[in-house]
Amino acid sequence: CCNRKFHPEDTVVQVGDVKIGGGNFCVMAGPCSVESEEQIVAVAKAVKASGANMLRGGAFKPRTSPYDFAGLKAEGLELLKIARQETGLPIVTEIMSVVDLPLFEDVDVLQVGARNMQNFDLLRELGKLRKPILLKRGLANTLKELLMSAEYIMASGNEQVILCERGIRTFDDYTRNTLDLAAVPMLHELTHLPVIVDPSHATGINRLVAPMAMSATACNADGLIIEVHNDPIHALCDGAQSLRPEQFDVLMGKIREIRKVV
Ligand code: PEP
Ligand code: MN
Repeated sequence: CCNRKFHPEDTVVQVGDVKIGGGNFCVMAGPCSVESEEQIVAVAKAVKASGANMLRGGAFKPRTSPYDFAGLKAEGLELLKIARQETGLPIVTEIMSVVDLPLFEDVDVLQVGARNMQNFDLLRELGKLRKPILLKRGLANTLKELLMSAEYIMASGNEQVILCERGIRTFDDYTRNTLDLAAVPMLHELTHLPVIVDPSHATGINRLVAPMAMSATACNADGLIIEVHNDPIHALCDGAQSLRPEQFDVLMGKIREIRKVV
């Protein structure tokens, strides 16, 4: 189970050469959505050059409005694999439904998005796999509920779960969500699973991403997942929170400074 009491040592999730947890720091970066081969390969090369360890990109997108771009689906997954081939970066991408599971066979890390944190049928199916699952905290879920969702995956034998704090709904709306950074040290107390932070969805605002990413690094998160786009103004999803590759590069330099201290 995920309780630190019964399993004192940190879980290290390994994806190829990349390790998450147990003192290893991992940066996942890439666009909100895969839009084209040119876009995903360009962003993958840029984030790799800046020191990212993994490529993120959505192919199946949960959108609030049914009229918004919902991702390139199977084609998006193929483009992610091309970007992986070009850069060597493992890929992390969201799965929304068990029906799509066969398409994700060659994906390195499967993401359960905030909206599906309590999709228990999906969690149980992912528990049958033997590959890492990135489990994002729901929009209005407690840490206990997040840990219970991790248990759903682990109960079927898949122990490779990475938790992600990505902001929660609060009364204030100056940011898209409110980043609950205290969740990081608290989760480290409660569980041996690695905990990463998503400053992009937590804030929704480009200029707040770097300070929150640095803060998450300083409070000992095991990694970050950050949205980076080569043309944020024309992004099909989440452009307002996406860093340009140059901004991501500056941020990575600052994160490396903090990691020397922490
Ligand atoms: C995402 O990472 O693309 C995403 C949709 O995030 P969340 O599930 O945290 O809203
Ligand atoms: Mn997004």
